Amino acid sequence: MKKIIGLLAVLALGFQPLFGAGVKESQGGGNTGVALAESGRAKYVFLFIGDGMAMAQISAAEVFSTARSSKDVAVTRLEFTRFPVAGLTTTYDAGTFITDSASAGTAIATGNKTLSGVINMDVGKTKRFKTIAEYAHEAGMKVGIVSSVTLNHATPASFYAKVPSRNDYYDIAVQLAGSGFEYFGGGLIDQRTGKNKDQTDAVEMAKKAGYTYIDTNEGFHALKAGAGKVIAVNAVIQDSGSMPYEIDRKPGGLSLADYTRKGIELLDNPAGFFFMVEGGKVDWACHANDAGAAIGDVLSLDAAIREALEFARRHPQETLIVVTGDHETGGLTIGFAGTQYNTFFDKVALQKRSYVAFDSDVLKPYKARVPQDSAKLEDLLQAIQESFGIDFNALSDVQKEQVRFAFQRSMGNEPQRSFAEDQYLLYGGYEPLTVKLTQVMNQTAGIGWTSYAHTGVPVSTFASGVHAETFGGYYDNTDLFHKLADAMNIKVQ
Ligand SMILES: [Zn+2]
Repeated sequence: MKKIIGLLAVLALGFQPLFGAGVKESQGGGNTGVALAESGRAKYVFLFIGDGMAMAQISAAEVFSTARSSKDVAVTRLEFTRFPVAGLTTTYDAGTFITDSASAGTAIATGNKTLSGVINMDVGKTKRFKTIAEYAHEAGMKVGIVSSVTLNHATPASFYAKVPSRNDYYDIAVQLAGSGFEYFGGGLIDQRTGKNKDQTDAVEMAKKAGYTYIDTNEGFHALKAGAGKVIAVNAVIQDSGSMPYEIDRKPGGLSLADYTRKGIELLDNPAGFFFMVEGGKVDWACHANDAGAAIGDVLSLDAAIREALEFARRHPQETLIVVTGDHETGGLTIGFAGTQYNTFFDKVALQKRSYVAFDSDVLKPYKARVPQDSAKLEDLLQAIQESFGIDFNALSDVQKEQVRFAFQRSMGNEPQRSFAEDQYLLYGGYEPLTVKLTQVMNQTAGIGWTSYAHTGVPVSTFASGVHAETFGGYYDNTDLFHKLADAMNIKVQ
């Protein structure tokens, strides 16, 4: 579960050029993946994880990619859905059918089920599990960890840390510094001096351990092969220490694909590498029921995967690329009661800001400027149209009522009811106006949501390259660890 209240953001609007990519196919899909190889070790292994990304998130991105430029009923296939092998993966953990990212990460990285919230320890929180990245590192391979969210968030942490609670951010940061892994890239290191800011700076510990710490674009671009161990955090930080959503990324800002390309450059060596890249904000957007932001980040993950494919073309017999999700988030689906058998995904293309950017660019400044008792929804209608493509006057009466009510709640004019359930079911703890706007826009597009949390449906796993064939079928998320270990010829102890 993501922290809902974020840090202030530095943002801009506009979809970036990568949204134009993709090959349109109306039926079936050709395989662009690397040819299957029967034998040989996977020496270069990429594991891409879309956090909160199951088939609905993937399909939404494919429908969107067509609808933004045409009225055709067709899907524009992503790079990874054209891989030669697809599988289905169950995600339940040791305590619930609805896993969190910590237990899901533990399952994928170590082959063990544990409780939600626990990273790489057993349900009794005494036994520690060794991760696939640690096995690979011990075998002499270099290791890279990239995430669009904080580098010590649950999913990236699952590859190098062992803690009883995912909220032990400082302990995770210290373990990052001691991991010896060659490359970390993406969001910040959260609580690097501890919760009370009174502990030894984990970044200083990393520097002592030989890491170069970079937090500027110039520094990032200057990194070259042979740079040694690197931690590269993004120059622009949005909510909760993360990189900006793809739809909020400014021209010149670094993307997940940039971090992936740089990682390949730094990790490439004759002994091979294991490289985990997480699109972490697909999950965060889905928690907030913001399909536009989620789709943008699925597409940015796909662009990062294109970098791996480019590398695989140069090493076709030695590269394995696996793409999976850790769980579904939001209960996203294509279809909504109000639009029945129709979808209008072209409306999603009109969204120019994530919910986070709307909060920080529009709603927060408005609340600071305008006294509660003189606040009027009319003041924000233009910004709402620009941000979400919503023409308020064209909404149904029910939707208008919902938006007006949410506006009053956001302004503090509508008292919260005595039961918290009402507030949560309506807004999930987010800014009422913002979450209602994304919901209304999504509903108008024919997109439905059932939750602000994760759901228990299986995820899809796609594979390309050497040993890809072992990733076909229906299996458990813990099997991913064993399949990866087998592909790398790692003997699990
Ligand atoms: Zn997750």
